[in-house]
Amino acid sequence: MPVRDEAAQIAGDIAELRHAIHREPEIGLELPKTQQKVLAALDGLPLEISTGRGLSSVTAVLRGGRAGDSGGPVVLLRGDMDALPVTEETHVPYASVIPGAMHACGHDLHTAMLAGAARLLSARRADLPGTVVFMFQPGEEGYAGARQMISEGVLEAAGERPVAAFALHVSSNWLPGGVFSTRGGPMLAAADQITVTVHGRGGHASTPHEAADPIPVACEMVTALQTMVTRKFDVFDPVVITVGSFHAGTTDNVIPDRAEFLATARSFSRKSRGALAELVPRLIGDIARAHGLTAEADYARQYPVTANDAGEAAFAGQTVAEVFGAGRGEVARFPLTGAEDFSFVLEQVPGAFVMLGACPPGRDPETAPSNHSAAAVFDDAALADGTALYAELALRRLVRA
Ligand SMILES: [Zn+2]
Ligand SMILES: [Zn+2]
Repeated sequence: MPVRDEAAQIAGDIAELRHAIHREPEIGLELPKTQQKVLAALDGLPLEISTGRGLSSVTAVLRGGRAGDSGGPVVLLRGDMDALPVTEETHVPYASVIPGAMHACGHDLHTAMLAGAARLLSARRADLPGTVVFMFQPGEEGYAGARQMISEGVLEAAGERPVAAFALHVSSNWLPGGVFSTRGGPMLAAADQITVTVHGRGGHASTPHEAADPIPVACEMVTALQTMVTRKFDVFDPVVITVGSFHAGTTDNVIPDRAEFLATARSFSRKSRGALAELVPRLIGDIARAHGLTAEADYARQYPVTANDAGEAAFAGQTVAEVFGAGRGEVARFPLTGAEDFSFVLEQVPGAFVMLGACPPGRDPETAPSNHSAAAVFDDAALADGTALYAELALRRLVRA
């Protein structure tokens, strides 16, 4: 029976696992309940299972009956498992029972689909010409869980390094339900954090000349950052800077001692990222100095660009077309400005990050609430196809290797 049909047959079990994970979302690197659900779903399968030391990850290795002596070739499949600090407002029957935590990025689907793929591939173990590593990862949302799993050895879990790595990500809007999207080259942005503190000298608001007011100086920095984006960066190698947090002062008649703001910086190339890290602190420091104040600007590199390998992205697209039909796949015209820590895997292993539309029927993908929204809903219909694609990518890539 084709993998796709088998995935459809176990879709009920995959949905059940997804709903159980969705009901009890966990945030960050420690996801003990989610880890237990994954381990229970994998129980009885012919897998070598290990769990993380510094995070509640699960690494499962499936050694095929026709693998080489070294266990190779190896393909890695990744699913992330963590939720977001969002209070769910969807009213789905399996909604989160934990206030302040929600699977608003659909990672519950990824976890359930990857467990489903482990089941389908385990049933084909005897014929597998290589090894599959299933990477169940906590802490995608800002905790760099993938980097930690790499440092704990996930890329060496099978003995030999993977020849290719794939990750799926669902979207509650933008893509029509059931449509897969990927591209060669940059798929998602690098995301870095800028932390600025402007040091002034407080005083009475009626006599600003006797104080050193940090507020107008910090405001000037915010607008200067936007000007810098348009004057210092190639329009075809774009950069986004958004100041998302700005705090200073307590009331109208007091000049505060300092002002603070936080910004995110998104970029798509090593060159632009390097320029940001150099230019932003210089701009902040020089503006402060122009007004006789001082400022600190910390440029913290967080997630690198998620860069798909051109060949692996084309292979993933071709697999989608062969398994589901040409109409179900698209080549993304542009990268997305979101970021992903699967980028750390793709820095070391060629592979592809593939998006899957999970917008529920009856909602318009153009206007449906997006990932991270308290109202985001991801359709269960994506589960069987996502499971089938994970399994087919591993099967076909091992045969080709
Ligand atoms: Zn997310
Ligand atoms: Zn996500």
